[in-house]
Amino acid sequence: MEEKKILMIGTGGTIASEVSDSGLTPELTSEQLIRYIPDISGICKITCCQLFSLDSTNIQPKHWARIASTIRENYREFDGFVIAHGTDTMAYTAAGLSYLVQGCPKPIVLTGAQKPIGFETTDSKQNLRDAVTVAASDMAGVMLVFNGKIITGTRARKTRSKSFEAFSSINYPLLGMVRDGRIIRYIRPEARAVPQFYDKVNPNVALLKLIPGTDCAVAAYLLERSDALIIESFGVGGLPTYKAGDYYDTVKAGLDAGKTVVMTTQVENEGSDLAVYHVGSSIKRNLPILEAYDMTTEAVCAKLMWILGQTTDRKWVEELFYTPVACDILAGK
Ligand code: ASP
Repeated sequence: MEEKKILMIGTGGTIASEVSDSGLTPELTSEQLIRYIPDISGICKITCCQLFSLDSTNIQPKHWARIASTIRENYREFDGFVIAHGTDTMAYTAAGLSYLVQGCPKPIVLTGAQKPIGFETTDSKQNLRDAVTVAASDMAGVMLVFNGKIITGTRARKTRSKSFEAFSSINYPLLGMVRDGRIIRYIRPEARAVPQFYDKVNPNVALLKLIPGTDCAVAAYLLERSDALIIESFGVGGLPTYKAGDYYDTVKAGLDAGKTVVMTTQVENEGSDLAVYHVGSSIKRNLPILEAYDMTTEAVCAKLMWILGQTTDRKWVEELFYTPVACDILAGK
């Protein structure tokens, strides 16, 4: 069998970090990372490319677009792609890439680590090896590979800040596992013959996590400054009604001004269902808001940025929002 060609894209993160006086700083290039796992040469042929050396706290939607365009430019030449990335915003980048590179029949694998590759105890080498293994396989689309788990790009979330077991798949099963260099596959995602690439994102999306008593002036401020507002409310979803008209009127004014409003929940598992309680159904029935259902907030952010990069037409925004992309939404309207 012909040796697979993998493009390894470096972006920074803990995996590539070294100790400095002010804490861990990303410094190693993807070429230097690969040198730590010489046994990988038996799996495939790797070409390295360094896009940025950033703590992922500094990764922005424009960086997703840059990663996507790098994949597009190199698409024909390589069989798979590995992106070494900081863990803090990796789930957002995984979601972002899932919308910017849709239906990809080749694997696009994000990975990183909780401990730098140069540390004696580190998860970097295993994660990188596993990521390359998946990128050299016949799995398809955007995935996050971490601590042996293979997670769909739109379903990943960082759920632990320190442990090696840092990521979970939210409201969707794992695609598979990597154990001792072998892939145990649970699901085969659908792919097209050729991917659909997009290059425009609109980063002007805001998120408001409600706490008991949040002044709705905060929502008004965010609506004024953004093209879309995601409101993470409580339980299956709803807006406070203790000051009559307060939230309802604010959201309505935002919608009347052409903004997009998405209701979601701050509960990690099982998603929203606004129809259940009066506090949710009263807005759902009367206002053209959207509802996230089982989507992760990371995916909602990235999907809105992708959609609003293509259109501002309300009907079209709604249509695209509820159309599943890379298994991001199961429950329909
Ligand atoms: N702060 C780091 C980053 O996200 C954390 C990590 O990579 O684990 O870049």
